[in-house]
Amino acid sequence: MPQNLEKPVLNTLSSDQPGERKLNALEKIYLPEIFKGMWYTFKQMFKPKFTMMYPEERWDPPAIFRGRPVLVKDNGRERCVACGLCARACPPLAISMQANEDADDPKERFPDFFEINMLRCIYCGLCEEVCPEEAIVMSKDYDITFQSREDAVYDKEKLLIPKEDLKDRLDYLREYKNRQFGQFWDFQEENNIHSVRNRDKRWETSLSLVEMLEAKNEKDKTLRS
Ligand code: SF4
Ligand code: SF4
Repeated sequence: MPQNLEKPVLNTLSSDQPGERKLNALEKIYLPEIFKGMWYTFKQMFKPKFTMMYPEERWDPPAIFRGRPVLVKDNGRERCVACGLCARACPPLAISMQANEDADDPKERFPDFFEINMLRCIYCGLCEEVCPEEAIVMSKDYDITFQSREDAVYDKEKLLIPKEDLKDRLDYLREYKNRQFGQFWDFQEENNIHSVRNRDKRWETSLSLVEMLEAKNEKDKTLRS
């Protein structure tokens, strides 16, 4: 039989709902439930507190915490070589940069500008995951405010943080991320030197890439034995 939606037959509020528990007189005035609630609140007053008086008291997050992404400043300059991997991996397209080169510098590549739009960032940490240089890492900074949309675009000046201040996170990455790829990848600071010229000096350009890898494997084997 089609239901008359103007007059629903089954309604949880109807007093003749089958199975509905009848309230006794005390329950009808709700007082016992109110006192139960007050008793519960009273007991909490003697338990350890988990809240703090922010912003006077600050929480120092553990190293695993993913706060705002920052660029690592190493020896007074960015480690970033502007490879663009982080910008590619960033799901909300929050990162933009422009690469430049300095032929006289062994590091060669650097970002002319590097920006993260903090209104877009979702703190996923994928930029940190893909960066081959440990040049962008998640910091402990969770206290982020802006006055305008323009203020929310963080440039190199705001992003660069000395590696000494990021020690906890960098140690954490060494412990967990590098171990995950340990067989193939272990970040070393000298990896940051990307000069093809320097590599050529070490790697004899007469060899093909496959031959170079074979030579390296041979060398590794000899070192291990
Ligand atoms: S944390 Fe995620 S969203 Fe934020 S910049 Fe990195 S990749 Fe993009
Ligand atoms: S992935 Fe790392 S090195 Fe490459 S552009 Fe991003 S921060 Fe720079």
